[in-house]
Amino acid sequence: MSKFETVIGLEVHVQLKTKTKIFCSCSTEFQSPPNTNICPICSGYPGVLPVFNQRALELAIRVCLALRCRINNRIYFERKNYFYPDLPKGYQISQYKMPLGENGFLEVSSGKKIRINRVHLEEDAGKSVHKNKYSLVDFNRTGIPLLEIVSEPDIATPVEAADYLSCLKMILQYIGASDCDMEKGLLRCDANISLKQTEDKVLGTRVELKNMNTFKGVRDALGYEAARQEKVLERREKVYQETRLWDGNKGATAVMRTKEEACDYRYFPEPDLLDFFVPQEFIEKAEMYVKELPLEKKKRFIEEYKLIDSEVDVIISNIWLAEFFESVVKVYSKPKEISNWIIGPFLEQVNNLASDFNLVKISAQNFAKIIKYFSQGKLNNITAKRALSLVITTDEDADEVIEKEGLRQVSGEDELSGFVEEVIVANPKPASDYLEGKLSAIMFLVGQVMKKTRGKANPKVVRTILERRLKNEK
Ligand code: ADP
Ligand code: ZN
Ligand code: MG
Repeated sequence: MSKFETVIGLEVHVQLKTKTKIFCSCSTEFQSPPNTNICPICSGYPGVLPVFNQRALELAIRVCLALRCRINNRIYFERKNYFYPDLPKGYQISQYKMPLGENGFLEVSSGKKIRINRVHLEEDAGKSVHKNKYSLVDFNRTGIPLLEIVSEPDIATPVEAADYLSCLKMILQYIGASDCDMEKGLLRCDANISLKQTEDKVLGTRVELKNMNTFKGVRDALGYEAARQEKVLERREKVYQETRLWDGNKGATAVMRTKEEACDYRYFPEPDLLDFFVPQEFIEKAEMYVKELPLEKKKRFIEEYKLIDSEVDVIISNIWLAEFFESVVKVYSKPKEISNWIIGPFLEQVNNLASDFNLVKISAQNFAKIIKYFSQGKLNNITAKRALSLVITTDEDADEVIEKEGLRQVSGEDELSGFVEEVIVANPKPASDYLEGKLSAIMFLVGQVMKKTRGKANPKVVRTILERRLKNEK
């Protein structure tokens, strides 16, 4: 057993999900070609004026409330000055003395509360792309709204750090504040770690770790670093306060800069933005999103609806989706069926709508109707999905669409036997294969009948008729 305790604090940067940047109307689109989402404001031309994006503030307030922070309702920005090629203005507009939120906490899976020191708004810098002999800069990212979320050093293990991140991500997605895609850099994490002997009152010297792009990276980097510091301390040497980069391929950290090289940011009030007070209605509006947080909701869903962990995770990945699920349950009390339909066909179709829930117009009643008709056999798997796709963005009455498109499942033997006959005549080979014992050949024939009926036949009934008909022939 190690005689040292690990102490970890995380600084997370998360991109807020706005359509435009924080101080100009350039798009925040991720896939755009380099340097196409830029304007004089976010490229740092002289003489321009920033205008604060209200949506960024709305989302940031949701986050502060979800993290149970005290909100400073005076919004006040400062300039953080430093020189870097991807920072065209030579400063970043940020919050320093007066962060938007302070003194909150985040509950992790174990129930432990990790205190949040501060949550503040700032603008992102550009992106440097290093080539072999030269470097390129893409300014599309400059001015994208970021929220910095700083924890107290309350995290005790690398596993707990990864769990903190996944709980944070769950909340941020749920309240619609960010998509949190680490691969796209929408959620980035710096980790501070030190070791101390249990009886020590003061914390040890910390090292800052950067460049971990996955939860696993965070866990591995912290694990590596804890072991490294322990060895240093056991040799009775000193841990230096420095920034180290994680190299996922090598599975090791290496020094990036030491404390002596740390810069003085010369913060001062941003003169181009007036400070102002957040209207109370603004905060009340955000409160609706955080009444029940994902972990509580998860427990309740598992108990109330008897769903399993992984299903609940999907359904509560977004507050709209969770509420939609519950409103469908209210009109059709089959949570398991509804969950299957939401996680399967419904989300698949929402994906085709660029995952934009704003485009989904179907009512709970209408959705419930389709699921019910499926379970009653009035629609089959294909036609139910088709019906859903026809009404998902319009909320046209499912009954009318089913009627108009002739989607009602055909289960009547009289109606189907004609098709079965035609298919057997047209496909002598699979038919004789089946009779010779190759039982799987019947699936091909079922498929042919489905095709002839444009997906409307009840496949079970088709199979029964086919089997009977072929056996009689023998
Ligand atoms: P800085 O201004 O250098 O960023 P902060 O005081 O804001 O420093 O702390 C940054 C992060 O480091 C916070 O998440 C904090 O919890 C964590 N931290 C501070 N001291 C320690 C320590 N001794 N060991 C581990 N983490 C620490
Ligand atoms: Zn711009
Ligand atoms: Mg800090």
